[in-house]
Amino acid sequence: MRYVVSASQRKMTYRIFLYPSTMKMVFLYSALVALMTACGSTGTSTATDTAAADTTSTAAVDRSPFDGNSALQLARQQCDFGPRVPATPAHAKCAEWLTTTLQASCDTVIVQQGTVTTGQGKPLGIKNIIGVINPDASQRLLLLAHWDTRPWADNDPDPANHSKPVMGANDGASGVAVLLQLARQLKAEGTSLGVDIVLVDAEDMGITDIEESWGLGAQYWAQHPHVAGYKPLFGILLDMVGAPDASFTREYYSVKSASGFVDLVWSNAAGSHFINEAGGAVTDDHVFINDAGIPCIDIIDLRSDSDTGFCSVWHTVDDTMEHISPITLAEVGQTLLNVIASLEQ
Ligand SMILES: [Zn+2]
Repeated sequence: MRYVVSASQRKMTYRIFLYPSTMKMVFLYSALVALMTACGSTGTSTATDTAAADTTSTAAVDRSPFDGNSALQLARQQCDFGPRVPATPAHAKCAEWLTTTLQASCDTVIVQQGTVTTGQGKPLGIKNIIGVINPDASQRLLLLAHWDTRPWADNDPDPANHSKPVMGANDGASGVAVLLQLARQLKAEGTSLGVDIVLVDAEDMGITDIEESWGLGAQYWAQHPHVAGYKPLFGILLDMVGAPDASFTREYYSVKSASGFVDLVWSNAAGSHFINEAGGAVTDDHVFINDAGIPCIDIIDLRSDSDTGFCSVWHTVDDTMEHISPITLAEVGQTLLNVIASLEQ
């Protein structure tokens, strides 16, 4: 299927909202943002009632389906440390656990320590935790998720909770869990592709309208890649990939910077949560990776029907494990397995 847009449709008409309660900048824009020539699947295969997502016919390697229950457990293990707010003991303990867990599945693990400046102008020590699979492979895929959690639940309906930390079952743990489980399955079943899993720190300490206060770990990594001259095929960021009713539309900056890779990923999508429609724009780690010259897309749960642009528990004290689904995690993980299979061909 090929969708051809008319010249008048190419004229983008933006409706831009700056939500006062939104700690990320979310621009909703009109449905006519048909920048892309959409090919392939619409990502509308039927939902499964198990945690093992549908596979598509693209798999080159006869692999096991992605195990969403195992990913769910990996999310729970992160939350068991408590909120992973930088410069707290829970954050330090989780960093050790992430390092050990990646070491079991990756050929090399690098813990990149650095100092960044927060939106409040204060220095902050960070750790980006990087797992490398097949270090000698020239064809490489970059996979990212942030592992820190937000220090303030400032979108909570109860103002008394605004100074409390976010547990980040969805906003933090979900993306990391999918990548940890993916590494396990690639270790068990092999891949010819080089894969770099970069768990970035300090994504979620940002201040509204100060773009550079978000994605501090990703900014640091972009300036200090773990390999000099690092050039993957492209990058995929996972953020908030666990909600049972998640909606993964095509995020605006991803399409703007890497539309062909958005096509590739959405045409390999597993399950009903990937929707082949234009979504909002989000300042997230991928923006800084793109700025550094590496095309990078964001698989992120975007809601056109909410005031914030995100799910209702976003940046509230209710971002907890009860609101995470192994089915959604499995669909995202399976999508990555399908993309990897397509790159192996
Ligand atoms: Zn967040």
